[in-house]
Parts: sequence; structure tokens; C-alpha cells
Amino acid sequence: LSKEHQDVLSAYEWLTKLYHHLLRFTKDGKEGYSYFKERGISEETIDAFQLGFASNTKDFTAEFLQKKGFHQQVLIKSGLLTLHEDNSVSDRFRGRVIFPIRNHLGKTIAFGGRTITEQEPKYLNSSESKLFQKNKILYNFDLAKKHIRKSSEAVLFEGYMDVISAYQAGVKNVIATLGTALTENQAKLLRRYVDTIVLCYDSDKAGIEATYKAANILRKVGCQVKIARMDEGMDPDEYIEAYGGDAFQNKVIKASGTYMSFYMRYLKKDYNLNLEGDRIEYVENVLKELAMIDSSVEREYYLKELSNEYNLSMDTLTEEIHKYRQNMG
Ligand code: ATP
Ligand code: MN
Ligand code: MN
Ligand code: MN
Repeated sequence: LSKEHQDVLSAYEWLTKLYHHLLRFTKDGKEGYSYFKERGISEETIDAFQLGFASNTKDFTAEFLQKKGFHQQVLIKSGLLTLHEDNSVSDRFRGRVIFPIRNHLGKTIAFGGRTITEQEPKYLNSSESKLFQKNKILYNFDLAKKHIRKSSEAVLFEGYMDVISAYQAGVKNVIATLGTALTENQAKLLRRYVDTIVLCYDSDKAGIEATYKAANILRKVGCQVKIARMDEGMDPDEYIEAYGGDAFQNKVIKASGTYMSFYMRYLKKDYNLNLEGDRIEYVENVLKELAMIDSSVEREYYLKELSNEYNLSMDTLTEEIHKYRQNMG
């Protein structure tokens, strides 16, 4: 590790402690503390995730780090200070609650900061650098790793708060991407530890589209994908707040479905199934996807479903799927 990288890591370590201390023990951080309290986050959880609060005081961070002997140049590169056009610098995070983003060794390499006053953007991350590449990191992977191994499953969320709520509720094999789409890099990293990923994204339009994309990236690298469902519009954190951790474990995670049953639902959005032509096209497209499933038991299971729902004989469906399978070689 270069001297510069070491300095950046050291700056993040100081600031993680400072922001956490502010939140837990000072008047300056009280709004941050109350914010998490209102969202049902306990002190134990605040400590486990080293959650913090970045002071609203101008140049608080810059001054603190300069007193510690860090060079401004390093702090700009680390994404902690923002460099303006007139060459002045200012703290990147002010008046926000802070989520330290840790690497697989548990070292903070970036921050996510959430506004507590409806400011835009809602979440702000450290800018990317050699040390912090969003597409290679999964939030909470360091703490989740042993639980992922033990349960042979990883649960993947969209947001920091989903991870924290689930973890607090006792579902600890939980990770999230950092506000971006899942990448092949991240999928491969997961694949090294576990076969099965439960996708548990927000139950809104964006979340469903992201689920489709993530599921296919995971399948491509050889993961088994399961897909969780929640009431429309909800995210995992909201679900846990409304129904509790046991319901989340039993009715969402354990009840998650196969990729195929997700896909059969997902594909419907492209069709008006009241129209005959659309119904036929829909069934054809489901069959194409079904043809790629190796297990004949699983294929037959969904063929039966199609047969019942669209009043088509099993013979016809089986014949058609054979054609697709032969074309696959
Ligand atoms: P909260 O519950 O605190 O409102 P959330 O996690 O439900 O947050 P979403 O809007 O569902 O928020 O976004 C999911 C994730 O995407 C966030 O956790 C964050 O990592 C990222 N994100 C959201 N908005 C932004 C943004 N404006 N800029 C960068 N990242 C963002
Ligand atoms: Mn969302
Ligand atoms: Mn959300
Ligand atoms: Mn949320």
C-alpha cells in the first residue's frame, strides 16, 4: 500500500471514530442520534455499524484532519474534502448522518451520508478513488461473511438502512450495493462465498427492474437466485418496521420464490393479457426461458402452471418447449 493510501485509510479511521463519537456523546451530534432513534435503530446497532454524524460547522472536518497532520491534497483525493473552482476546499459531509463503508477487512474506505433535513441528494457518497470503487464493494460484507457461510445464503438489498434494520432484527447474512446496479465484479465476489443469493430489492418499479438485471448477472456467474416479495411499494426496512423481524425472516426471506416464477410475473408487464395475440406471445416467451432450465421437474412444474392459466394442453406445451431445447443444441 502506498503512503498516500495509508494516509487516506488513517484519515477515514480518525473520522469514523470522530463522527461516531459526535453522534453518541455530544450535543453537536444529537440530531443524528435522534434521527436513528426515530428510525428504530438501537445504540448497540449504532455501535456495530459505527454510525455517525458529520458536524454542520463549516470546515470542521478539514480543520480536524489538518490538525492531525494530514495534507490537504490527500484529503481531496480521498473524497473527504471537496475542491471548488476557486481552489478553496470544504467538508464534503455536513449535517448528515454517516454510514461508514467498510472493505472486507472492516476498514472504512468511504462514507455514505444521508440528509436528515430533506436536502438533495438524499444520500451522498465519498467520491470514487483507487481505494473506493463502488462497483467492487458490497456494504457490510465484512460483518455478513460468516453468517453468509453459515446459512449458505446471502440476502442482497438496495440500501444501507435495509442492511442495518435486517441485521438488527437478527437477519445477519445481509449486504447491499452502494446505490448502483449490481456489477459482475460484485456477483463474482459473492459467488466465491455462496451459491444462493436472495434478492430483496425495493418493491417498486425501479426495484423490480433492478431485480431483473441483478438476477441475470448473478445467474450468469453461476449463482442460484431466489427472489423475495413484499407488499407493493415497500422496502425491507419499512417491512421490518411494520411487521417485525420474525415476519421478515419467515414470510419474506424463507418464502422467497424462484427466478422463474418472478420472471413469469415480470414479463406480464409487456403484454395486455386480455388480448389473444398478447397471451400467445407471452406464453411463447415464457417457454423460451423455461427451455433453458435443466431440471425437467422444474420445467414440468411451470408448464403445468401455464397449462392451467392459459388453457393449453400439456402435450402442446411440451412439444413446443422441445423445439426450443433442440435449437439450443
Ligand atoms: P432511506 O430509507 O434512508 O430513505 P433507502 O435506502 O430506502 O433510504 P432508496 O431511495 O431506496 O433509499 O435508495 C437505495 C440506496 O441507493 C441508498 O441506500 C443509497 O445507497 C442509494 N441512493 C439513494 N439515493 C441516492 C442519491 N441521491 N445518490 C446516491 N446514492 C443514492
Ligand atoms: Mn428505492
Ligand atoms: Mn429503499
Ligand atoms: Mn428505505
